Amino acid sequence: MNTAPRTALTIAGSDSGGGAGVQADLRAFFANGVHGLVALTAVTVQNSLGVQGFTEIPVDVVTAQIKAVASDMGVHAAKTGMLATAEIIQAVAKTLDEVHIGRDTGTPFVVDPVAASMTGHALLREEALEAIRTELFPRATLITPNLDEVRLLTGITVTDPATQRAAAEALLEFGSRWVLVKGGHMRDTDTCVDLLYDGTEPIELTGARINTENTHGGGDTMASAITSSLAKGADVPTAVAEAKRFIERCVAEAYPLGAGVGPVSPFW
Ligand code: PLP
Repeated sequence: MNTAPRTALTIAGSDSGGGAGVQADLRAFFANGVHGLVALTAVTVQNSLGVQGFTEIPVDVVTAQIKAVASDMGVHAAKTGMLATAEIIQAVAKTLDEVHIGRDTGTPFVVDPVAASMTGHALLREEALEAIRTELFPRATLITPNLDEVRLLTGITVTDPATQRAAAEALLEFGSRWVLVKGGHMRDTDTCVDLLYDGTEPIELTGARINTENTHGGGDTMASAITSSLAKGADVPTAVAEAKRFIERCVAEAYPLGAGVGPVSPFW
């Protein structure tokens, strides 16, 4: 008889273009050998040219999805992506406590603080950023902001290793166990250095900068790959290192699709 696989839960929005959001999360879970569970938070209308709009899912439907899968199938690790509104964020935080998911529970929880798409379209109502800071970060095992999100959250513009380190220190103050400040958008270097920090020794993860225009869904894929490794029992530094190798391959194999930005690739 087969045994049940490890499971990872994504609490995030749908991308009709299939490149980011829960579609990217499920692909990354699958590729990393865990069963993906979904609590859908919003439906975006988008293609390669950008996000044309979104509608959020009713709050009680978001929380009911989390409770349904947690009570029956079990969750070995969870992540959040697009959460759309402060109401959804507050309700998700309360529900995660009820089902024992979060930094102090034994079930790791990754927060990807999605605020806007690369094309600059808001994916979060304005007042909701504060709720991510106060409700989700203190419950997070790891937070994974990109440099735009770092600036929104801390006011720090990361341009070099010193400002990246300062941003990591500032973000850790919000209460997560670990912070990953991704360097993917520091444009003027040929390497891509991510900084992982838990208040002790900073860990630098260096990779090659891969030249591609097609990076849609990269952040979601990275956070989901980390969550997959955590679901399989890896510690945070190991999970991040494994995910970095995975995302590099996805970016290297990214493909054009539509007239705008194509997705990072799950095909390899
Ligand atoms: N759409 C959804 C539903 C997302 O969750 C995200 C990012 O997390 C995006 C779009 C934006 O993706 P990108 O910035 O990679 O274009």
